[in-house]
Amino acid sequence: MTFTTRFAPSPTGPLHLGHAYSAMLAYDMAQASEGRFLLRIEDIDQSRARAEWEAQIYEDLAWLGLTWERPVLRQSARLPAYRAALTRLWALGLIYPCSCSRRDIAQAACAPQEGVPPAFGPDGLIYPGTCRHVPNPAGPLPNAVLRLNMARTLAQMPDPVCFPETGAGPEGQTGEISLSHSMLQSDVGDIILARTGLGTSYHLSVVLDDAVQNITRVVRGQDLFSATFIHVVLQKLLGLPTPCYHHHRLIRDEAGKRLAKRDDARAIKLYREDGKTPADIRAMVGL
Ligand code: GLU
Repeated sequence: MTFTTRFAPSPTGPLHLGHAYSAMLAYDMAQASEGRFLLRIEDIDQSRARAEWEAQIYEDLAWLGLTWERPVLRQSARLPAYRAALTRLWALGLIYPCSCSRRDIAQAACAPQEGVPPAFGPDGLIYPGTCRHVPNPAGPLPNAVLRLNMARTLAQMPDPVCFPETGAGPEGQTGEISLSHSMLQSDVGDIILARTGLGTSYHLSVVLDDAVQNITRVVRGQDLFSATFIHVVLQKLLGLPTPCYHHHRLIRDEAGKRLAKRDDARAIKLYREDGKTPADIRAMVGL
């Protein structure tokens, strides 16, 4: 299989040094393997995505010396595919509507042990399961927050669930990573697969898109290591291949804080206007 990787930014702000590192690392790995480097625009959240940011992404990546295949896949064009997957999971009784607010979840998650802070998983607070016990309404897929029934999902797959890692997780996890069903239940739980208004979620879209783009190596930051647990479960559930993962170190500021979209000061565009070259950017991120 041809080595195929991708860079998948959301057009919600400027690309900064952390994005440049991720994109260049993926690009270099594709070059070294005589493979393919794809770009995917993750614009499901239309309230935050902007055409200007998308244009800036293309400009910055081209300036960095990267080339990618056209046409570029945009998630906003893939809503029917996301809906089809949800419809299938709905028919199988593996997802259920949830009407809990963040506050309801925090309260219910704290309730068993008063004073103990609720646990966080890769997708925020671990859902205490309140709506799981309500029978699903008959009929088509509702336009609601839809959660994955993790217990029913795991009952369909071997224990542990595994994926290959060529980089490292935040605690140095590398090689064949094994995820036990009990850990997936307690530390991941019933995550959201569709949000109202979006009709999908980051997790569902990424999994379906990596499969349709035949991605063999997912190169991305260590901050997404635990999100991979969700992605691998979804791949097994939907009968999709599990790619090899390469989670890389994060680029931090002088105070050791991870760079975020709001760190405009590290925007590639500003370095460029400041007279820096792509080689300078490579040196700055240690490539
Ligand atoms: N769109 C995500 C981001 O900008 C990256 C998702 C991924 O690489 O899987 O953080």
